[in-house]
Amino acid sequence: MDIQAELISIGNELLSGQTLNTHGRDLGQALSELGLRLSRDTTIPDDIPIIGNAVEDAFNRVDLVFMSGGLGPTTDDITRDALAKLFGQKIVIHQPTVEHLKGWFEQRGRTMTIAATRQAQVLESAAVLFNSVGAAPGQRIETGNGKVLFVLPGPPNEFNAILKEEIMPWLQIRYADIKPQFVRFVQTKGIGESDIVTILENENFQPSEVELGFYPGQGKVKIRLSAQAEHAANVTEAEQTLNKLLAEHLDLFE
Ligand code: AMP
Ligand code: MG
Repeated sequence: MDIQAELISIGNELLSGQTLNTHGRDLGQALSELGLRLSRDTTIPDDIPIIGNAVEDAFNRVDLVFMSGGLGPTTDDITRDALAKLFGQKIVIHQPTVEHLKGWFEQRGRTMTIAATRQAQVLESAAVLFNSVGAAPGQRIETGNGKVLFVLPGPPNEFNAILKEEIMPWLQIRYADIKPQFVRFVQTKGIGESDIVTILENENFQPSEVELGFYPGQGKVKIRLSAQAEHAANVTEAEQTLNKLLAEHLDLFE
């Protein structure tokens, strides 16, 4: 079964070149460990109508959508407002998060401000996902027709902590029947992509059910062979064939 998910990365700073968007890489890797596939990562600005449209578009394609950014205390953090408008829901204060934040400020000898309390705001229907390394919690919003939206804070350490601690265990249960893809890598050095492809074409190398990916960089080419778990044998066979065809060019000391 091919379960696809999409990510919507929100933040003006991601588009103006100030911040490198790392969430696609981290989420793509985490999902593929479970056998799920990140099929799109859309980066958009902090803008209410654009956020609403992006979520609607994503849900027209897939059942599982992740979004990140815009949950902070500043006036440009408007992701909650965009979602409240889109789903016709109220924004409520999540009291356990307020208590948690108060404790956090007290430990540091600081008083919690009204602005900081904004980070405890969630959509009324949201399941609140504890943030063990920062202020704003994540949210899981189920829209009733089997579609699920995960809302996550922007800072990568917070995004990854909530993903690992709260979301992955939930996905593991929900998609318990799904097996991860079977993946192998072959790495070459001292040969370019076009020469590799010529060798493979001359030998008519077209393994069935196996997806090939070529990732060149610094004199080396990494070849990724992947397939659904039931076709693992095809991957192993293709890997052996590649190792023979490219024997003179293998990078064995990666
Ligand atoms: P935000 O929650 O949108 O206010 O983002 C807070 C911080 O997280 C900012 O410093 C951003 O640069 C960083 N951040 C937000 N989104 C991402 C992302 N997709 N990848 C890496 N860093 C991000
Ligand atoms: Mg932001």
